Amino acid sequence: MTKSRSENELTPELALRRLLHAQGLRFARRPRDLPGNPELVLPKRNSVVFVHGCFWHGHDCRTSRAAPNFKVGSWAEKIAANRARDRQQQAELQAAGWQVETVWECQIDQSALIARMVERLRQR
Ligand SMILES: [Zn+2]
Repeated sequence: MTKSRSENELTPELALRRLLHAQGLRFARRPRDLPGNPELVLPKRNSVVFVHGCFWHGHDCRTSRAAPNFKVGSWAEKIAANRARDRQQQAELQAAGWQVETVWECQIDQSALIARMVERLRQR
């Protein structure tokens, strides 16, 4: 049986949801009433999780540096604006008592790093 491309494709967000679910962590997806619309919210643990694309959110990593025009022109301005907005939204969330986790697209496969985040979430 062949599956369509969309069924097989594991987005970073979906990969993370599966992992947290497998670890027994329960979450809500994309509530609309929080600054920045974090991908996942764990109300019992006062935590929100963002999954950020490296290019658009200006991660300083190989993935985004490899993209053309990362540091010049209108892309750079847009990315700088995204970063400023991310920082602002994170500050608003923290002021409201949320603990903010950010998972970068390039980190989804780094199981040790994700495992540490899962551990932090469990302890809250
Ligand atoms: Zn990255």
